[in-house]
Amino acid sequence: MPWGGGCAWRGYAGGVSLTEKSEDLFARAREIVPGGVNSPVRAFGAVGGTPRFMASGQGPYITDVDGNRYVDLVCSWGPMILGHRHPAVVEALQEALAAGTSFGTATPGEVELAEEIVSLVDPVEKVRLVSSGTEATMSAVRLARGFTGRAKIVKFAGCYHGHVDALLASAGSGLVTFGLPDTPGVTGASAADTVVLPYNSVEAVTEAFREFGDEIACVITEACPANMGVVPPLDGFNAKLRELCTAHGALLILDEVLTGFRVSEAGWYGLDPVKADLMTFGKVMGGGLPAAAFGGRADVMANLAPEGPVYQAGTLSGNPLACAAGLATLRACDEEVYDRVDAAALIIGRAASDALAAAGVPHRLQRAGSLFSIFFTEDQVTDFAGAQTQNTAAYRAFFHAMLDQGVYLPPSAYEAWFLSSAHDEEALSQVAEALPAAAKAAAQAF
Ligand code: PLP
Repeated sequence: MPWGGGCAWRGYAGGVSLTEKSEDLFARAREIVPGGVNSPVRAFGAVGGTPRFMASGQGPYITDVDGNRYVDLVCSWGPMILGHRHPAVVEALQEALAAGTSFGTATPGEVELAEEIVSLVDPVEKVRLVSSGTEATMSAVRLARGFTGRAKIVKFAGCYHGHVDALLASAGSGLVTFGLPDTPGVTGASAADTVVLPYNSVEAVTEAFREFGDEIACVITEACPANMGVVPPLDGFNAKLRELCTAHGALLILDEVLTGFRVSEAGWYGLDPVKADLMTFGKVMGGGLPAAAFGGRADVMANLAPEGPVYQAGTLSGNPLACAAGLATLRACDEEVYDRVDAAALIIGRAASDALAAAGVPHRLQRAGSLFSIFFTEDQVTDFAGAQTQNTAAYRAFFHAMLDQGVYLPPSAYEAWFLSSAHDEEALSQVAEALPAAAKAAAQAF
């Protein structure tokens, strides 16, 4: 075993396939669930092979149904900032569970979670809880349209805001293009009011406002994009969006579903304090349970039902278990937690880049606070077109070599790597020791 210390990772043994139970479950799942999964990236489509079915998690590790243990660098795509089964979260959940799981009424936990969010993120004066990031962005866009009485929205190619029809629009070939449906099932009409622009292009945003200024309800952007790999806003980009929105009476929506409470206690806003009119949150604020939120200016939020005319609702919104897990997570996220996550991200990002450089693999490490990703291309990536120049075959080889050594990376080259405060020296060493072989595999596939 290349890494010591009681590691339960099992190598290939006794002719039994390492992934036998996962393979079996995947086959069963494909019979009755489209693609065998409940969210596409889990199917390993971009990297091939058998998706691992996880049985449990503890701290920085997840263990699959075949008993293989992995250092988890996905962390449930962000929420598990404290690692798996953090004692404070488990305790809060047990307490909430004992009191009942859902009432369909207002509960104290909702007030406390809302107060916590408002106290952490300055631009948020009022907040509404929902159950997923998709709901948060969908509702924020509806509210922006209701508030301004305008139809058009501006989004950026490569920014992901969940599977909202109007936000599943791709860019055409021009600098300023109306959205083309990204998927069957999204009608041309749903996408037609979406203007899709290249990310980081002040010129494109200026042009869009010049053409459609008084028709644009809002600009929605990831506060710092991490769904095309990590592509930070160029200096002053978010501030420019703020300026243009204000000048034209449009709202600025900063989507912090991924970055919120992860890159700092105030999310990306804590690192780049541009005031949005509306913000969206999810992931960390749910502590691993389905909770998300949108919030912002009190005068805008006042337009939401039942205070105002813009309708929005949810049977499980503010669910007591989700609120308990979220609140416990946010309260546990102190300075030490962020320091640990930052330090772990620094170490792993650097180690990965060093290993790839030593193996001669062209790559680019891009960071945004504790978020980072590695593009298998040499040039700085500032937009989606740049992200698409990377060599995904090299990532595939790299991913599988890491997986074979007990490190679970995102099963797609277009995702950020996530760390937690539970990633201790032992877990980080296991990752570091796996990197050289994975870098060699990437070099061979390049
Ligand atoms: N917005 C951003 C920035 C996201 O990263 C995601 C999900 O990854 C969403 C919205 C959608 O959130 P959910 O998957 O909870 O619907």
